[in-house]
Amino acid sequence: MTRSAAEIYLDNNATTAIDPAVARVIHEAMLAGPANASSQHAIGQTARSVLDDAVERIGRCLGSDLNRPGGPRLIVTSGGTESNNLALTGIAAPDAPIVVSAVEHPSVLAVALAMNRADGAGPRREIRLIPVLPSGVVDVDRLADLIGGEGTGRAKAGLVSVMSANNETGVIQPTAEVAKICRWKNVPLHIDATQSIGKVPFAVHASGASAVSFSPHKFHGPTGVGGLWLDAGVKLSPMLRGGEQQLLTRPGTEPVALVVGMAEALQIATANLVDFAAHAQSLRDRLETRLAEACPNSVIHGHGRQRLPTTTCVSLIGCDRQTMLMALDVAGIACSSGSACSSGSSPPSHVLTAMRCPENQIDSALRFGVSKFSTQEEINRAAELISRCNNRLRQM
Ligand code: PMP
Repeated sequence: MTRSAAEIYLDNNATTAIDPAVARVIHEAMLAGPANASSQHAIGQTARSVLDDAVERIGRCLGSDLNRPGGPRLIVTSGGTESNNLALTGIAAPDAPIVVSAVEHPSVLAVALAMNRADGAGPRREIRLIPVLPSGVVDVDRLADLIGGEGTGRAKAGLVSVMSANNETGVIQPTAEVAKICRWKNVPLHIDATQSIGKVPFAVHASGASAVSFSPHKFHGPTGVGGLWLDAGVKLSPMLRGGEQQLLTRPGTEPVALVVGMAEALQIATANLVDFAAHAQSLRDRLETRLAEACPNSVIHGHGRQRLPTTTCVSLIGCDRQTMLMALDVAGIACSSGSACSSGSSPPSHVLTAMRCPENQIDSALRFGVSKFSTQEEINRAAELISRCNNRLRQM
C-alpha cells in the first residue's frame, strides 16, 4: 500500500499533537530529579511545591481558586476517561439513580450501563437517559422529570452528567440550563468538558457544576494525565485503593512533570482562545463549504447549532464510513469514523443514532477536527481529496 507523503491530520478530537513548548517544560521537569510529592524529605517537598504551583495555575485558567483550604480542588487523574469514571462512581450515594445524556462519551455511558447491570463492585443502580433532539442538543425539558424526587413518584437522582460539547458532532450542550435545573432540584451535576476546556471559554465555577472532567491531550498537552475539578464540599469515593495521596480520593504517586505540562498547555490554550476559535472556525467552515459544493450527497450534523469551532461531522451518503476512512488514510488524511476516539473498526455512532439520523447517514459519517496547527492549504487539499474519494466510492 502506498501512502501519500503529506499527512494531513484532521483527527484532533481524538488527540492533538503536543505543543513543543509544552514538551520542553515536561522534559525539564522530568530531568529535574526524583519527584514524589508525598515524600517528606526536601526533594519531595520541592516536588510538592512544583505540583501545587502547577495546580494553582490550572485553577487560575479554569476560573477557580484551588489554593483555598476547604475550597474547590483538583483531582489529578490519568485522563478524561478516569475523571469520568471517578465522577460517575464516586459522587452519588450507592443506591441513588444517575441521569446521563444519551450522547455522552463511552467513558460515561459504559460506566453508567455497567452500574445498571451491576457488573462492578456496587449494587445495581437505576440509570435514566436524557434523550437528544434531532439537532443533537439534549432535551432539557425532560430533565426535571428524569431527576425525580418529591411529588414525582420516582426516586430522586444522586447525580446528573451532561457533557459540555459532543466529541463526534461538536454540538455544544445547554449546560447552563442543565445546571439551573440541577440547582433547583438540589442534585449535583458533573460536566464532561473534555472537548471544551482548552478550545472554548469554560469557567468551572461559573458552570454551576459540582464536578468537571478535562484532559490536556485534547489541547496540545500530554496524554496520561487529566483532571477532575470538584467544587468545595463535594465528597468523592475513590475507585483506587492503596495510598493516601490526594486526600485518599485518588491514591498513586502524582505525575508531577505531566501536571506541569497540563498547566502549561492550559495556560497557552486559554491565553489564545479568541484567536484560536477564529482560526479553527474559518478552517472548519472552509472545509464544510467546499464539501457541500463538491459532494451533493453530504450532510453536516448539528449544522446551524452552536458547535465547537474545530469540529465537523459529515455524512457522505452512499460511502461506507470505514471504507472511506481507509481510502482517506491512503490519500494522506487522518480522520475518524463512528463513535470511538480510537481508530480501528467502530460500531455505528450512538450519538447519530440518538439524534435519530437515518441509517444511510450513520453508515457514512466521518469526523474531521482541526487544531491550531492546521493550515488553509491542508484544508484545501483535504477538501479536494475527500471529494475525489467520495466520487470514486460512489461510482463503485
Ligand atoms: N470525554 C470526551 C467527550 C472525549 O472526547 C474523550 C476523549 N475521546 C474522553 C472523555 C476521554 O478522554 P481521555 O482520552 O483523556 O481518556
